[in-house]
Amino acid sequence: MTKQKVNILMVDDHPENILALEAVLASEEYNLISADSGEQALRYVLQEDFAVILLDVQMPGLNGFETAKLIKAREKSRHIPIVFITAINHPPDYISEGYSVGAIDYIVKPFQPNSLRSKVDQFVKLHRKYKEAKQDSQLLDTKTIELEQTSARLDSIKLDLRKTRALAKLIADIALDTIITFNSAGYILTVNPAIEKMFGYKAADLAGDRVEKLFLQSNQPRSSEVLIAGQSISLLADKISEVIAVRKSGVTFPADIQIRQANFENDCIYVCSIRDISERKLQYENLERLVEARTLELLSANTKLQHEIEERKIVADNLRLSQERFRKIFESSPSLMAIASCKDGRYIDVNESWVAFTGYSRQEVLDQVENKLNITFVSGQPDLVDISCNNSLRNARIRYYTKAGQVREALLSLESFEISGEQCQLLVVTDITERVFLENKMARFDRMNLIGEMAAGIAHEIRNPMTTVRGFLQMTKQRGKLSPSHIDLMIEELDRANAIITEYLSLAKDKPTDRRLQSLNQVVENILPLIQAEAIRSDKFVIFDSKPCPMLYLDEKEIRQLVLNLALNGLEAMSTGGILEIKTYIENKTVILAVQDQGIGMKPELLDKVGTPFFTTKEQGTGLGVAVCYSVAARHDANIEYESCEFGTTVFVRFRLSTDADN
Ligand code: ADP
Ligand code: MG
Repeated sequence: MTKQKVNILMVDDHPENILALEAVLASEEYNLISADSGEQALRYVLQEDFAVILLDVQMPGLNGFETAKLIKAREKSRHIPIVFITAINHPPDYISEGYSVGAIDYIVKPFQPNSLRSKVDQFVKLHRKYKEAKQDSQLLDTKTIELEQTSARLDSIKLDLRKTRALAKLIADIALDTIITFNSAGYILTVNPAIEKMFGYKAADLAGDRVEKLFLQSNQPRSSEVLIAGQSISLLADKISEVIAVRKSGVTFPADIQIRQANFENDCIYVCSIRDISERKLQYENLERLVEARTLELLSANTKLQHEIEERKIVADNLRLSQERFRKIFESSPSLMAIASCKDGRYIDVNESWVAFTGYSRQEVLDQVENKLNITFVSGQPDLVDISCNNSLRNARIRYYTKAGQVREALLSLESFEISGEQCQLLVVTDITERVFLENKMARFDRMNLIGEMAAGIAHEIRNPMTTVRGFLQMTKQRGKLSPSHIDLMIEELDRANAIITEYLSLAKDKPTDRRLQSLNQVVENILPLIQAEAIRSDKFVIFDSKPCPMLYLDEKEIRQLVLNLALNGLEAMSTGGILEIKTYIENKTVILAVQDQGIGMKPELLDKVGTPFFTTKEQGTGLGVAVCYSVAARHDANIEYESCEFGTTVFVRFRLSTDADN
C-alpha cells in the first residue's frame, strides 16, 4: 500500500531559506509547498490540509505570529502543527509569545538538518494518525446514522404493527358481523365477540371445533375437504354468498358470508365474516308483500278507472245518441219547435214545422230578440203568453198568428234546459186548428142528431101537458067550473112544457164557449126535464141524487150536452122499467158526476172503442156522443172513466177542484 503524499508548507520571505528547507526535507512522501509571505501562506491553508507548517517569524506584512494566530483561529486549520523558524539572537520572551499563539516547536536558524527532518517526520506521523482517526470517526458517524435510521424505521414499523393489531382487534370486537378465522384443515382459530349474540356460543365454546359446525350442511363433508353449507371454500372465496347458518340452539337463520384467504409463509388461514340477514330478508319480504299489495291496489284502481272510463264512454255515447235523437225529433216533429235563449229571449233554432206553420223563414226568426210569434191565450184574454224560462207550461191552449195574419189554435208546452252551459227554453207548439174545427163540426152534428132523436120525446112531453090542459078545459066547458087546484095543475103542466121547449131550443143554438164559475148541480138540474121527458117516453125512470159541491169553472152549454149524451146512452141501454141514476159528489178532492144505468153493459172490446168518433152499435146511432163528451171533458180538465158489467154501466166524470190559479 503506497502512502499518500502529505503536504508540508514552508513560509519564508527569503528564497534561500526556502531552498535550504527543501534540500533538507526532500522526500517521496512529502509534497513541499512554499509561500513567501504570511498572506500567501493563509491562502494555501484555505485550500489544502497540511501535516505541518514551517513558519518564519520575521516577515514583512503579516509576521509569523500574526499568521499563526489567524491559522489557529480557523476551525479547519486549528489542528495543523506550526513550527517557527527563528534566528538564534531572539530573546526568550519572543519564544514564549510563539508558544502562546499555538506554536508546537521552534527551530533556531541555522538549523540542524537531521533534527529538522526527524521533527518533521514526527509531525507527519502524527498527521497521518490524526487523518486515520478522523477517517475512522467519519465512518463510525455514517454507520451510527444508518443504525439510528434503521432503528427508527423499526420503531415505526413496530408501532404500526401494534396499531394495526389493536385496530384489527377493535374492529373485530365492535363488528356486528361474526368474524372467524380457521386453518386449511377447517379448525377454528379465532372468533370475535359478535359470535355470542349471533350464534349463542361463547368464544371458548368453539376452541378446537370445525368451522362446518356453524352452517347447515347439505352435503356430508369428505374428510379432506372443508365445506361450508355444502360448498368448497375455493368456490366461496372472495364473494358474498347466502347460506343457512345454525345457532347453538339449533335454530337456523339466513346469512351472507364472505371468505378471504391469507397466506403466512407456509401456513394458510381463512377469514370468514358472517352477517345475519334474517331481518333484512324479512324486511325484503315485507317490502315484496307491500309492493304486491300496492300493485294489486293499483291494478284494482286501474280496473275501476277502466270501468269508469267505459261507463263515461257509455254515458257519452248515450248523450250523443240522445242528442242525435233529440235533433231528429226536433227536425222531423210535426209540432212546431223552437229553442230560445233564456238570457235575451233570442231564437237559437226553429224546426221545419215551425217554418211551415208560421210562414216565417228561418232567417227571419233566428237571432231575433222580439217575439215574432204573437201568442195569446185562447180564453180570449189578450195577454201574451209568458214564454220566459221561469214559466213552465204543459199543453196550454193558445192562439198564434201566422205571418199572413191567420189565427191558429194550438197547445203550447215550455221546457227549460241547458245547451253547452247556456240556459235555453224549448217551445213545443202543437197546432190543433184542424182538430178544433173538426170537433166543433162534430159537436154540432151530434147536437143536430140529438135534437132529431129527442123530437119524438119532446113532442110526447109537450103533448102530455097539452092533453091535461085540454081535458081540464073540456071539463070546464061541460061543467062550467074550474077549481083553483085544477088551474094550478094546468099552469104547472104548461110551465113544464115551456121549460122543455126552452131547453130543447137552447140545444140547437151554437153558443160560443164560455167557462165561468158555477154549480154543476144547477147545470144538471136545468137539463133534467129533457132527460126525464126522454125516460118517460120509453117507460124508464130518472133519479138525480145531488150532494153539495163547490163551484166549478164550467161552460154550461158543453156540460149540458155531456150530461145529456151520457144519460141518453144509459137510457138506450136499458129495457122498460130501468132506472137511470145521476149522482154528484166529492171524492179525493175531485167533484164527480156519475151516470149509472141498469142496462146491458159493455164488453171489454167495446169499452176500448167507445169514444172513437163514429163508432156505434146502434142502427140509427152516429157514434159521436161519447167522442164529444171526451172533448168537453178535456176542455174542462176533467177525465172520463167507464165501469161496466152485465148489470149495467157507470160513467164517472171527474172534475179537478178549481183553485185560484186556474182560469
Ligand atoms: P151512439 O149512441 O150514437 O151509438 P155514442 O158515442 O153515444 O154513439 O155511443 C157509442 C156506442 O157506445 C154505442 O153505440 C153503444 O154501443 C156504446 N154505449 C155507450 N154508452 C153505453 C151504455 N151506457 N151502455 C151500453 N153501451 C153503451
Ligand atoms: Mg149516444
